Amino acid sequence: MQRCRLSLFDIRRRDCLAREGIFSQGDLAVRTPGVIDMQRISPPLDRETGTNVPLPASAGFVSRYQRSGDGSPLVVHPLGKEPVTSGDLVVVANWHTVLARPPDFVRFLASLKGRLPPDAAWYAPASALPSTAALLVYAGFDLFDHRAVDLATAKGSFCLPEGVFPEELAASGVCTCEGCTGGDIGRHNRLALERELALARRFITESRLRDLVEARCRSDPHQVAIMRLLDREEALLEPFTPVARSAPFMATTSESLRRIEVTRWGRRVVERSPSPIHDIAVLLPCSARKPYSTSLSHHKFTRAVRGRAHELIVTSPLGLVPRELERVYPAAHYDVPVTGHWDREELALISSVIAGYLGRHPYRRVLAHLDGGALEAARMAADACGIPLEVTAECHPTDPASLAALDTALEGEGRRTADMMRGVLAWQFGVTVDTRGMTVRGRPPQERVEKGGRVLFTIDARTGLLRPTFEGWALIPGDFRVGIDAFTPKGDILAPGVTSADERIREGDEVLVLGEGLSATGRAAMGGPEMLRSRHGVAVKVRKIKTE
Ligand SMILES: [Zn+2]
Repeated sequence: MQRCRLSLFDIRRRDCLAREGIFSQGDLAVRTPGVIDMQRISPPLDRETGTNVPLPASAGFVSRYQRSGDGSPLVVHPLGKEPVTSGDLVVVANWHTVLARPPDFVRFLASLKGRLPPDAAWYAPASALPSTAALLVYAGFDLFDHRAVDLATAKGSFCLPEGVFPEELAASGVCTCEGCTGGDIGRHNRLALERELALARRFITESRLRDLVEARCRSDPHQVAIMRLLDREEALLEPFTPVARSAPFMATTSESLRRIEVTRWGRRVVERSPSPIHDIAVLLPCSARKPYSTSLSHHKFTRAVRGRAHELIVTSPLGLVPRELERVYPAAHYDVPVTGHWDREELALISSVIAGYLGRHPYRRVLAHLDGGALEAARMAADACGIPLEVTAECHPTDPASLAALDTALEGEGRRTADMMRGVLAWQFGVTVDTRGMTVRGRPPQERVEKGGRVLFTIDARTGLLRPTFEGWALIPGDFRVGIDAFTPKGDILAPGVTSADERIREGDEVLVLGEGLSATGRAAMGGPEMLRSRHGVAVKVRKIKTE
């Protein structure tokens, strides 16, 4: 069989490194992540030499022996120099050998992802089991085969997403698929893999694949280690992590503290927050209900504070949420198990965010209207900064005596109105904007920011981010721009038309598209670097086009 190169990878949804879409070549079209029948598009690779070079092989060995093939698929190696282009199908041979070697898994993945075009389709031969598929998809693999499950069948194993079990389990009624009811374990094992991949597709479309991976990895320490090590690979993951989602953010494991979304939040709060309009800060506890200000407890806090201090909410896993950012993702989207106890790692990470913030903004007074773990984190942060902390919660923060103490502590202090716009603009775009004269009008989901009768921004009720109008973009000069070729887009901007893109743009960011004689407002569907390196797919979902 001759190889042909006319493959296409149509990525429809992304969730960090994972993609949901359709890979097609010739008359074969496969939903990804999914199982591909490679025999339909390629001669068997096991008859070709140089396509099975071990992953830890040296650069010299790779350049001497590894053969990538000259069509589709292309066999790639972390140290190879294969001529991969957008849409190509790449084979990463021997990936099953690093599933039990977490540092190698992460090292080789970073090397390959850094080099290959972002819209190449990744195939991992003989690697996926129902129990490993979610993690492989999370790491950015798109296509798999039945070989690993068939091998498990040959060994007498019964595969479930929860792990690999002896075949006796098949008769115990834990599964009622057609394989199990017909006494065919091989059929069950294949169906279990396909079911898991279908589930992964669903979680990607809901932007919640991490939840599935966090659940699945528990039965295998290697998988937990891979997930934790990946969270530390910020250079690999951050460019692919959306700036906002409309899905809930489940912070139900200790790994939540290290998620890119959480570290990004802390860094932006510390580095981007504009100088506060108040010289007094009050640290408040979070509430289960989001945004916090819709909760009963926060009604009580704001009534006691009455605009006399800058309200900062201490919370796990985000660390610190200034009141003006409470609607921004993931501050309004996270859910966390509440036990009242914070462990040492949690305290260390959260207090470091608070300390970073307080270190940058020297308030005249810092009040801690907190108890329990939140108070401990605040104390650690205050100690680190060498600032005194005035504790106002005599018992539970919502207790009338505590609220009265908070009110008394603020006696004689001046009132200021919180400036949500200034905070969100700084967090979102990294700019300090003069917001004098701006007013928020309307009610969610139809809120808008006006100045002198002109609409500058609308507020995205799902993410809390600001959507600049053309007038609004004038306040954010130079940044978050996407340049396009000389054409007038009929709808969304596709990646091949992008000629320049701010490298700070992440999926979900608001962008201004600039072309010859036209501009357009919209939301990035992929990161800036990915726009420039991709040849397929929507780069910007356009909201409004203006021709000059
Ligand atoms: Zn079954």
